[in-house]
Amino acid sequence: MQAHFDVIIIGAGHNGLVCGALLAKRGKRVLIVEGSAATGGAAGTHEFAPGFRASTAHLLHLMPRALITALGLEQQGLRFAATRMPTTALSAEGNHLSLAADAVAAASPADAAAYPAFTARFTRLAGALRPMLGAPPPRLGTDAWSDRIALLKLGWQVRRLGRRDMRELLRIIGMNAYDLLEDNFSSPLLKGALAFDATLGANLGPRAPGTVLTWLMRQALESADGNTGLAQPVGGMGGLTDALTRAATAAGAEVRTGTRVERVLVADDRVTGVVLGSGESLLAPVVVSNADPKTTFLDLLGPEHLDTGFVRKVDHCRARGVTAKLHLALDRLPAFLNLSQSALKGRLLFSPSMAYLERAFDAPKYGEHSAEPALEITVPTMNDPTLAPSGQHVLSAVIECAPRDLRAGWDGSKDAYQALLLDRLEALAPGLKESVRAVELLTPLDLERRYGNRGGHWHHAELAFDQFLFVRPVPGAAQYATPVQGLFLCGAASHPGGGVVGENGRLAAQAVLAKAV
Ligand SMILES: Cc1cc2nc3c(=O)[nH]c(=O)nc-3n(C[C@H](O)[C@H](O)[C@H](O)COP(=O)(O)OP(=O)(O)OC[C@H]3O[C@@H](n4cnc5c(N)ncnc54)[C@H](O)[C@@H]3O)c2cc1C
Repeated sequence: MQAHFDVIIIGAGHNGLVCGALLAKRGKRVLIVEGSAATGGAAGTHEFAPGFRASTAHLLHLMPRALITALGLEQQGLRFAATRMPTTALSAEGNHLSLAADAVAAASPADAAAYPAFTARFTRLAGALRPMLGAPPPRLGTDAWSDRIALLKLGWQVRRLGRRDMRELLRIIGMNAYDLLEDNFSSPLLKGALAFDATLGANLGPRAPGTVLTWLMRQALESADGNTGLAQPVGGMGGLTDALTRAATAAGAEVRTGTRVERVLVADDRVTGVVLGSGESLLAPVVVSNADPKTTFLDLLGPEHLDTGFVRKVDHCRARGVTAKLHLALDRLPAFLNLSQSALKGRLLFSPSMAYLERAFDAPKYGEHSAEPALEITVPTMNDPTLAPSGQHVLSAVIECAPRDLRAGWDGSKDAYQALLLDRLEALAPGLKESVRAVELLTPLDLERRYGNRGGHWHHAELAFDQFLFVRPVPGAAQYATPVQGLFLCGAASHPGGGVVGENGRLAAQAVLAKAV
């Protein structure tokens, strides 16, 4: 039978779009099939109340400038409402701390002296990992020269740090963020805010081993040359994914929204296409999945096409969401205690100490949400008024920690949790509750239902030592190809991990071109 396409991509999240655009640019006949009505996945912008729009993923800071340029996204309409957004660590008493290097002196003179040196060294150490995040992870124990060279390159990058930094990298890489920060700083507010970034995407608090590695990986992507820093595209994150959609279609890819893939077709142990929800079969020798690994292998492909050991690995891949998202439609600007209005153009973190953050991560271990959540807050309308009706505002908050599998179940608990979150915000910004016109709370269960990622984890698979690099998401599928010929992964669970990075999509496209078509 004649193939309808060279490549079918399941899902138009930003990674599926990057992969599709790059393959189409190389002359492949590409179809991108998206189950929901819009493209972008968690990196889209949606209207959550009449006239009020928000992005689930609200800050762009990990996507390499080179990828934005290679895809011509600015020519496709990508604009930034803000770049290099500053961060303020909020304190409940109003003694906030700007994380700008010259402002940390307010915390303590000792921290003021230590902070620039620590940041510079940490960025240098992270830089040694950076080349590894822009390349497929090498396979271990093979005789292939490409794998040997990739491992040698990694060793060389670390060696190039010089003896002192190399020793420091090896000392800290397996450590927990808590001990590292205790060794370097005294201000609880500063340590709490830095630990927040170290643990984002993990399911473990700052005392857990491996949280320095999570932080190094984030820093490596964030501080790459030419990057935007914390940025907000015009139109929210959907401004990025709309530009990506245009880049894919301009290159010749077809994008079908509102079309769910029900099954991946296999014949003689190789992929032959997909079956859509409508029952229609579409044929292609290559299928790339932007869906998470459990959905891809267990639901869409079916374990009968895989060996038992591989199925067990997929089953064991941890993807337990503990992050929720809150969007508020406000009829006026929130007034945080003792905080200047201009700080609202940046990012606000509420993680006032490492102990506070550790306790927030404790709750999900027992099937509970934290009564004292840690928050990452933005007010996107400060930089981009088009996101709300004139004079009104949107507050967007990432919330740690609320487990997908809440012991009491979300159905009967969501309203109370929402009230708790509004109370917490009211304590930080008195009068806020009175200005709320509409609320959208997305628990990890809601995120799972909306974006179709099993477990509701925002990165499809937890960011953890044992789920990084050569083993992300699982051994046997860490280089984008999978055990089934013609089936590839490109989503957040593949290397270099979650977040709006796009490198997964680019590297998956590279793997497809190298192996399959
Ligand atoms: C609450 C929250 C806040 C976040 N904040 C940030 C942030 O500020 N900065 C940042 O960098 N990252 C953030 N992230 C993480 C980031 O959004 C994700 O890691 C990233 O968007 C994942 O992209 P993806 O393309 O791999 O997958 P997704 O965005 O999950 O897209 C997968 C797509 O596949 C589609 N799909 C799945 N199954 C099928 C099927 N069977 N048929 C057809 N289509 C299918 C889905 O509908 C979806 O559109 C956040 C995530 C969440 C949830």
